[in-house]
Amino acid sequence: MGRRWGLLIGFLVAVGLLGSGHGEQQPPETAAQRCFCQVSGYLDDCTCDVETIDKFNNYRLFPRLQKLLESDYFRYYKVNLKRPCPFWNDISQCGRRDCAVKPCHSDEVPDGIKSASYKYSEEANNLIEECEQAERLGAVDESLSEETQKAVLQWTKHDDSSDNFCEADDIQSPDAEYVDLLLNPERYTGYKGPDAWKIWNVIYEENCFKPQTIKRPLNPLASGQGKSEENTFYSWLEGLCVEKRAFYRLISGLHASINVHLSARYLLQDTWLEKKWGHNITEFQQRFDGVLTEGEGPRRLKNLYFLYLIELRALSKVVPFFERPDFQLFTGNKDQDAENKMLLLEILHEIKSFPLHFDENSFFAGNKKEANKLKEDFRLHFRNISRIMDCVGCLKCRLWGKLQTQGLGTALKILFSEKLIANMPESGPSYEFHLTRQEIVSLFNAFGRISTSVKELENFRNLLQNIH
Ligand code: FAD
Repeated sequence: MGRRWGLLIGFLVAVGLLGSGHGEQQPPETAAQRCFCQVSGYLDDCTCDVETIDKFNNYRLFPRLQKLLESDYFRYYKVNLKRPCPFWNDISQCGRRDCAVKPCHSDEVPDGIKSASYKYSEEANNLIEECEQAERLGAVDESLSEETQKAVLQWTKHDDSSDNFCEADDIQSPDAEYVDLLLNPERYTGYKGPDAWKIWNVIYEENCFKPQTIKRPLNPLASGQGKSEENTFYSWLEGLCVEKRAFYRLISGLHASINVHLSARYLLQDTWLEKKWGHNITEFQQRFDGVLTEGEGPRRLKNLYFLYLIELRALSKVVPFFERPDFQLFTGNKDQDAENKMLLLEILHEIKSFPLHFDENSFFAGNKKEANKLKEDFRLHFRNISRIMDCVGCLKCRLWGKLQTQGLGTALKILFSEKLIANMPESGPSYEFHLTRQEIVSLFNAFGRISTSVKELENFRNLLQNIH
């Protein structure tokens, strides 16, 4: 039977125009049930359930996180949107007005953020300078304690760390500019069709460990697909090792999150007088309704929850780094910086108290040589995905794509960093482990995006409640 007929019959059954076959009248299913009834209960490969996450996120975390992300430290992100696409050259800028990104004037960004000394307290910065100078001269200042010398040298070297899962922009490049994330929000841009599909396609087809012979269900760039492809795809996915399955689910979760945002901040009205942005229920249903998407939508929403759990776990693990007395959210405004650090720690302690954290210990376990090889593959594939972001033809989408991959890459670095593992948890903060301001800003903003998606799912659930 053709896919269209299948869809039509599914739809008619859902709206109650065809009987269920048992001769009795079923109560009509609401649109909310079709999107969400499979998005409940336990998540695969985790001990956590969707309802626990909803309650925790929507009421305890989301409001505080939003406040933090509005602060100067987190709203300015430095990015190079002019980097050439390393994989193909025919990339056309889509030219849509809603794809434009407005970079900051240099006087808008607080000096403390722009200065090279944003990383640590004044004393620590002085130490770094001293040490860097000594290193250039071929010696490390002997008057520093041995531990400090070691730590300082580690800090200055962290950028080359092999722990990185992302290819970060060179923020010293003249093409890198600060962007105010609050003035350039992630929302509907109209970037769609073959150009957007090509990016997603390259990500899934070439970077998610998938053999070419296995077809992704409903792939718009592949023709003539049916139920058998779907079955083959999911038996392949279930047969994978847990790490590779997780990799696919993280990417799919990120994809779902982006599509939730564009449905929640859709351009509803565009007149010369004003633009109105808001929830587009039809757009959401087309992407996530279980019947309209042949079951794919709810699966994708579950992947979004999986991504949430991974980033949540990374944040809980890195708390000691942020607790260090010399760590500050440095913008140069002493009172504001201290207040923000307090809010940051409050949020992190809330996250730590979450009862059902993801257990990453099952990852890269077993035979050391194989585990290391797998970890390296995982890292290289993820780095490739971060480079693909330079091929996205809509600058606004590119900005948020880069930020969210860097944020997820930072979460993976935290989860799987040998240095952090070696020093956690009782021995306190590891001075060998370090995050740059860019990593911190992207980590929290990326998590803020997933947290907003989870909150938006509640909004959509309510909006769809009375629709059949
Ligand atoms: P797409 O979302 O393009 O998906 C292509 C195919 O992938 C689908 O047909 C389906 O088979 C499969 N698929 C879809 N979702 C999933 C999933 N979660 N898991 C697994 N497979 C899936 N648009 C905006 O309006 N605003 C943005 O900020 C924005 N940011 C973007 C960032 C990036 C990096 C990219 C690549 C695109 C972005 N887009 C954005 C475009 C948006 O994601 C869609 O590509 C576009 O709306 C077209 O949607 P579509 O329904 O045709 O399917």
